[in-house]
Amino acid sequence: NSNEKDEKDYLVAPEKLIRGELIGEGEFASVFEGRLFNSSEVIKVAIKTLRDEQLESNQENFRREAEMMIRLNHHCIVKLLRICLGPPLQMIQELVPLGSILQFIDNHRNDINPDCEFKIWSAQIACGMKYLEDNRFVHRDLAARNILLSSKYQAKISDFGLSRALEKDHDYYRALQGGRWPLKWYAPESYNFGQFDHKSDVWSFGVTIWEIYSFGAYPYGDMKGAEAIELIEQGERLQKPEDCPDEIYNKMMECWSFNKDERPTFKELTEFFQSDTDYINIK
Ligand code: ADP
Repeated sequence: NSNEKDEKDYLVAPEKLIRGELIGEGEFASVFEGRLFNSSEVIKVAIKTLRDEQLESNQENFRREAEMMIRLNHHCIVKLLRICLGPPLQMIQELVPLGSILQFIDNHRNDINPDCEFKIWSAQIACGMKYLEDNRFVHRDLAARNILLSSKYQAKISDFGLSRALEKDHDYYRALQGGRWPLKWYAPESYNFGQFDHKSDVWSFGVTIWEIYSFGAYPYGDMKGAEAIELIEQGERLQKPEDCPDEIYNKMMECWSFNKDERPTFKELTEFFQSDTDYINIK
């Protein structure tokens, strides 16, 4: 069975790994820098582990995230290189050296050129999302906190903890309201009916680039998720970030069309942000 063979190919024994310094912590995971001994070479990697191994639901999500990521291969998506069954279960990912885009923006406020970096990152995020769409994956947690930078000119999408593969003959994924819903990033059909598809990811893409063009501001400030939803339902939207070009803000607004059929596709978004930049293919 070729699937089983593929599966063995990406498993790695714990003795092939050396864990180094802690480089990041999310709600569920701790991420360490590390080394992977791979036949004759040693590769710098990121090792992601669960913070609370005890919770069954965490374990299930973590396994699902690994299974999802191992099938993806695109320069705008963080690559999962190996899985170590442990215990504990560990994901061995490509090391994305500059870390989170929010941190980067915060540290480089004065030497970022929005017309250049913000546009390139937006194009790359749209391009990675188009790849997910082509492979029928819905991300469900697209947000600036889940975008990492491998260089100043290469953004990568990470954190596939909520992602789902759309089943054959199904146009959207139906979720029951769970504990971990980033409501401020969610489209109306998602918070109202638990429906998730590429068009609800497009809504989240709009919020993500709003965060970027706002130099890392938090959407809807300190409002609660439910209050933000109320605004959306009344037809209001996030305001134009200071100095954001009109055509970019208009694109965000299109992503936030209440009717999902009026939102742009990731293909259109990639082309829009790619226009007059030659940087998109920098890896
Ligand atoms: P969680 O699933 O708990 O939200 P994340 O996947 O967001 O955890 O990881 C937490 C932090 O670890 C990120 O914000 C980032 O700073 C860092 N990180 C995650 N993956 C990598 C990676 N492949 N390379 C470098 N840093 C990473």
